[in-house]
Amino acid sequence: MSGADQPLAGKVAFVAGASRGIGAAIAQALAAAGASVAVAARTETEGKLPGTIGEVADRITAAGGRALAIPCDVTNEDSIESAVATTVSEFGGIDVLVANAGVLWMGPIASTPLKRWQLCLDVNLTGVFLVTKAVIPHLKSRGGGSLIAITTTGVEMIDRGANAYWVSKAAVERLYLGLASDLKSDNIAVNCLSPSRVVLTEGWAANGGPEIPAHMVEPPETIARAAVLLAGQDATGVSGTVQRSESLVPQLEP
Ligand code: NAP
Repeated sequence: MSGADQPLAGKVAFVAGASRGIGAAIAQALAAAGASVAVAARTETEGKLPGTIGEVADRITAAGGRALAIPCDVTNEDSIESAVATTVSEFGGIDVLVANAGVLWMGPIASTPLKRWQLCLDVNLTGVFLVTKAVIPHLKSRGGGSLIAITTTGVEMIDRGANAYWVSKAAVERLYLGLASDLKSDNIAVNCLSPSRVVLTEGWAANGGPEIPAHMVEPPETIARAAVLLAGQDATGVSGTVQRSESLVPQLEP
């Protein structure tokens, strides 16, 4: 394979929330672009939802890539530290983080149980904080890298009310935009990325996401390609931005 086919050759990517859905698609695309990939999430054996970290890692390996299934709960700091340590010991370091683990709760505030609010903040916000904090020293020791958090266009939809999910993702965008300034001198790109439209994933279906007209649906491959493009950035390239998959890909893809 040529360098153009494998722009991430020699890089190591940690994908949090990679057992299914968008995270699995991103993990596979990063590996196809040459990265060694830590496929991190909680599901080790098939449960209510399809998808396990082992199945995703096996698909990558079967396609000729390098991957490791690593159990990781982003709400638990010890679990994250152990997953990051395993990645570094197996692959030699970390260059790229995709903080993709997420849970959905779109109910109106007036009927949102406190435990749903807390779960959204624990996974979608504190999870991003914890996993980002854990990998930063490793990116610094490689002389740079790329941090990517998966957010949502819902952050901008203030005409459509508020919910725990959009609030948690809005906070992540604030976290990452400021972090880009903090990490500029370490040559680390920091960006948020979301699908431009809806990706019909296992999680979307399980949460009873509303019926989406075909023109509002985006294939998982688009956000996966966008993630590969952002993974290749450092602080001298695209950094400190909130990107939408369908506008980023035509801008950056050669
Ligand atoms: P999904 O199918 O439900 O997948 C969610 C992933 O997050 C799974 O791999 C799940 O793995 C992981 N996860 C959940 N809680 C976790 C925890 N405590 N620790 C570690 N991993 C955890 O969802 P999706 O639709 O692919 O969404 C992926 C991301 O994209 C989310 O952040 C979502 O907010 C965002 N997003 C999606 C859409 C869309 O249209 N689908 C649009 C905008 C943004 P385990 O259960 O195995 O832990």
